[in-house]
Amino acid sequence: MFGLPNWRSLQTRIAAGMLVVVLGILWVAEYSLSQSLRRDMEAAISAQQYSTVSLIAKEIDRSIVERLSIAESLAESLTSGVLAFPAATQRLIEERKIPGRIFNWGIIVTDSTGTAIASVPTDLHRTGTNYKEYDFIAKALSTGDVQLPDPVISPNSGLPVFTMVVPIIDDNQHTIGLVIGVTNLAQSNFLDEIGLAKYGNTGDFLVTAPVGRLYVASSDKRRVMKSGPARGVNPVYDRYIDGYEGSGIAKSSRGVVEMSSSRRIPTTGWLMQSVLPVDEAFAPIEAMERHLIVVSLVLTLVATLISWWWLHLQLRPLSEASTLLRNMREGVIPRQALPVVRPDEIGLLTEAFNGLQATIIDEESRAAEHTANRRLRHIVSFVPGMLFQYRLHADGRSDFPFVSEGIREIYGIAPEEAEGNASLLLDTMHADDREAFLASRNESARTLEPWNADYRIVLPDGQSRWLMITAQPERVGAGETFWHGFITDISERKAMAAELEQYRDHLEHLVEIRTADLEAARAEAERLAGVKSEFLANMSHEIRTPLHGMLGLAHIGKRNTDDDSKAHRTFDKILHSGNLLLGIINDILDFSKMEAGMLKIESAPVDLAAVLSESLELMQERADAKKLPLALITADDLPPTCRSDALRLRQILLNLLSNAVKFTEQGSVSLEAKFAGQQLVFRVIDTGIGIPAEQRDSIFHPFEQGDSSTTRRFGGTGLGLAITARLVELMGGSISVDSTPGQGSCFEVRLPYVAVSPSVATLSHDDSGQQHQTLTEIHQ
Ligand code: ADP
Repeated sequence: MFGLPNWRSLQTRIAAGMLVVVLGILWVAEYSLSQSLRRDMEAAISAQQYSTVSLIAKEIDRSIVERLSIAESLAESLTSGVLAFPAATQRLIEERKIPGRIFNWGIIVTDSTGTAIASVPTDLHRTGTNYKEYDFIAKALSTGDVQLPDPVISPNSGLPVFTMVVPIIDDNQHTIGLVIGVTNLAQSNFLDEIGLAKYGNTGDFLVTAPVGRLYVASSDKRRVMKSGPARGVNPVYDRYIDGYEGSGIAKSSRGVVEMSSSRRIPTTGWLMQSVLPVDEAFAPIEAMERHLIVVSLVLTLVATLISWWWLHLQLRPLSEASTLLRNMREGVIPRQALPVVRPDEIGLLTEAFNGLQATIIDEESRAAEHTANRRLRHIVSFVPGMLFQYRLHADGRSDFPFVSEGIREIYGIAPEEAEGNASLLLDTMHADDREAFLASRNESARTLEPWNADYRIVLPDGQSRWLMITAQPERVGAGETFWHGFITDISERKAMAAELEQYRDHLEHLVEIRTADLEAARAEAERLAGVKSEFLANMSHEIRTPLHGMLGLAHIGKRNTDDDSKAHRTFDKILHSGNLLLGIINDILDFSKMEAGMLKIESAPVDLAAVLSESLELMQERADAKKLPLALITADDLPPTCRSDALRLRQILLNLLSNAVKFTEQGSVSLEAKFAGQQLVFRVIDTGIGIPAEQRDSIFHPFEQGDSSTTRRFGGTGLGLAITARLVELMGGSISVDSTPGQGSCFEVRLPYVAVSPSVATLSHDDSGQQHQTLTEIHQ
């Protein structure tokens, strides 16, 4: 609160202003007070001073009159008879015993020539001295009047003396002598009352003889018998000399400003004066002024502090408001109304500011809304259809706070028109759709579920359009619903849907006809497939029977002829070709069976080791012929037995081994068997020609071979792998191939492992001697 003053602060300026005003008032009051005091005091002191000098003047006058009367009484007692005898005169004046305090320098009696004939005290030896040289003596003698001349320095004694000269008049009214009362002003005399008393501490009393401007007596002994200031030096003094009785202030010849008063002493015409330096006269005022200054300073300080504190209290709402406003501006607190602390001017200002702020916020939000609307309008003008905000009031009125430019295209009116009058859109609605449309709107308002409706409008030119409204409702305030959504022209879609409907009806009819045709065709195909399979089975049986006969006879013929004979070689060729033919027929038969779904997979206990070694044995001869080592690698964890179809398992392995041997010229062929993840894993690995990547999938298709040259080089039908893959599939397993052309191939077969229950005692590795025989023969 009492920090360093900030000169821009209102508080500081008001406090400073108040301070200046208070100081001004104080100083003016003090000045006028001291001036009036000075005037009053001057008047009081002047009156007092004047009354004092009047009193003293009166006293001096009385003393002079007293002395004069003594001298006169003495003069009266001196007759011409007495004067004729100086001794008698001397005796007389001595007898009178006039006290020394009356005439401290004695009394002189002269004759008519002004020569002293008697005098007291006698030790001054003044008898015989002629005083006629003094003007006032001569004047007294000539006029017979009492003379009270100004004091003079006695040429005899060199002392300042004041004389009273009283003529001695005889009966003839002639001046026969003089009585001279002498007062030595350098000694204690009746004027000493003045000499002893000071006026105040530094003031003086003065008795001035105006004619010679001479100081007759003074409390400042240095001035006695000195001349006062020459005319023109001190105007007040000059006025006194000219006869003014009263008081005045002037700068003395000594340079001191003095207050003075003057009163004439009637008997002598002297002036009784007193002077007092103004400094002393006004010392109490100056003391009081000093005191007032101190009090004023203290009061000013107190007033400053109090006004500072009071202003701080009064202006606090302003500084608090400015702090709040700064925080609002910096985003520390949200924008809000300022608190109105008191209903004073600051309160009124705050209220007015709050009102202004509310208006600004309102205008800002409206401007922001306007800008956002403009931007939105611009953006949504690129969106097909018409976007809108629709409001349904509690009283049933409705309006469009926002409508996009798309309305021009759909309704042919401007967005502003629709925003101004919502019923414009309703008016265009097809009469048949209006009820359903409003019902869907009211339903959406009630449930706050999305508002979806298709409806028609009829434009002024009579053109009809299908529109679709999709909007999301939200409740705003009491009973007011607000939708945000869009309206699109679905006329085209509706037309297409209608067309489609037409097509659909037509199509259904067509499909019915086609389905019936297809059903007939399928039944025919199935029948034909059955016929084909039956035919193939019959045919293969029919072919195989004579072929077996032929092969049996050729076998016998071969055995009964010499090895080198032509017949032997012919039988051998017949056997070879016959076996090939038999293999092909068997393959076709198997494939046909599979195609017809007639091939059944057995599930019986199988001795795995036996099946593996048998498969290898059957290939041994062909491998030997190509000098290819055949290897069987069985893992230790391979189960000895499992439930499977031994015939089909062997068929799979033989097919793979037969291919491996067939497509390998050098290196080796191996058969690996292991148990992994509840599966039996068989791998046939060779170092043959390999299979290009692009052929790896197709080789499992029937009648597919690596390339056309394969048939020429290696023979075969392209059925082996197709049959193998189907068999593996039928047995619930999977087959895959990994191969690098020129380096070899690896066929992997994975079959589910089914354990043999312990109760089964006997194992079978072949349930068809016939089949076994056939396969053996195929691959020889
Ligand atoms: P094919 O009777 O012609 O042997 P397969 O179905 O058994 O018919 O084989 C199809 C083709 O797959 C073969 O023509 C051959 O190109 C390729 N093939 C199969 N096994 C191997 C293999 N071990 N090495 C290289 N090519 C192979």
